[in-house]
This record gives sequence, structure tokens and C-alpha cells, in this order.
Amino acid sequence: MMDQLTKNYFDIQIDRLESVFGERAFSGERCKLIWRAVERLSWKSFERICDHLIASCRHAPLPKDFADAVRAEIKNQPRAQKEDAPYVILCECCLDSGVCQARGRRSEQVYFIRCTCEVGEKSHHIELPMWVDTFADVFERRAIDHTEWKPNRFDPNHPIASIQDKVNLWRAKMRASKAFWAGET
Ligand SMILES: [Zn+2]
Repeated sequence: MMDQLTKNYFDIQIDRLESVFGERAFSGERCKLIWRAVERLSWKSFERICDHLIASCRHAPLPKDFADAVRAEIKNQPRAQKEDAPYVILCECCLDSGVCQARGRRSEQVYFIRCTCEVGEKSHHIELPMWVDTFADVFERRAIDHTEWKPNRFDPNHPIASIQDKVNLWRAKMRASKAFWAGET
């Protein structure tokens, strides 16, 4: 990306923050975490975030505040720009999959539910109940363990393996239909 944040520009902005909040708040370890949270942004986005933090924070912002600000920044960007940053996870609850797990606090029974975030709300095709706050008494919500979804874990008899058969059948039907209407049968 042309406007990609550089380490040099990052350091300049950190200097600005230090001048406001003091140097101690931006130790090497914290700066490393802040860099990790923002390194994929454009320099403009990072500057906007720093402006916002300087304007609104009474105390020195923590790496977590930067991570939150990055999420807010990406959310507010038009879609075209969002595509420049598809690696930023907007919802930590479902990891932007729209689906979470609800795990019973006592029973440890696990259910799948739709997340309350934007992705979850738009996932009307997923026939799962949506999380509501009252579930929290009984369930703990957490992201799905996506390692379970690795393709090598698929059962070869899983329906997905039969999709090619369905496609072939559909093509054969289309051919037969065309031939019929063309009067070839
Ligand atoms: Zn979500």
C-alpha cells in the first residue's frame, strides 16, 4: 500500500504522544505492542488515531487503547478502504465469522450461536439463534475454535465432498433440457 505507515512516521507520532503523556508511558515493550496493533494502517489512519487519543485521553493510552482505536477506525472507513485492511479483526468474539460458541457454564455443553456484531447480524442465512445478553447467566460466549475447521478434518463422506456430483448432475439436466427445447429428442 502506497500510504502504508512506516516505522519512521510511527516514531514521529510516538514522540508527539510522549510530549503529551510523558516518556514512561511509551517504553520499548509497550511501543512494540502498539506497533503490532497499528503496523498495517496507513499513516493517515495512524495520525488520526493519535490525534483522537491526544484529544480525548486524560491518561496515557495503553496498547489496548490503540487496538480499540484501530478497530473503530476500520469500522468507520468506507468499504473500499476496508479492503486494504482485511487482516484487522473487528469482532474478537467471533473473529468476524459471525458465529460464536455458547458454552454452558455448568454443563460445558457447547452450542453454536450467531454473534451480535455486524457480521453476525448480516448472516441471515445462518440458521442459528442470535446471542442475547440474558444468555450470559447460563452460557459463556467465545470464538469458535477454527482449528476444528481445517479441511483435513473433513470426513470424506461429508456432504461437501458430494458437491461435484451435484454439479455434474445439474449440468446433465441442463444439457437434456436444452436438447428437449431445441427439439432434438
Ligand atoms: Zn462477531
